[in-house]
Amino acid sequence: MQCKKEENAANCSCTFPDCPRKGMCCECVAHHKRKNEIPACLFPIEAEAETMNDRSFENFVKAKEDHKKQMAELGN
Ligand code: SF4
Repeated sequence: MQCKKEENAANCSCTFPDCPRKGMCCECVAHHKRKNEIPACLFPIEAEAETMNDRSFENFVKAKEDHKKQMAELGN
């Protein structure tokens, strides 16, 4: 199986600049797992930029809850 780095990078929602792992999802997941973090693509897309410096599990749960509340307020 060939790596789809360019295709993955084109669809990557991460806004962290100049990351050497962008598009290499296996390395991205391993990197954040080592740090007890969650990769950017699993955060709600609306919160991605503001969570750039905090990929912790705790912030992930908070971002998901905030997103759920915002969607409920919008009637979605
Ligand atoms: S989530 Fe982390 S490892 Fe993945 S592309 Fe963004 S900064 Fe790089």
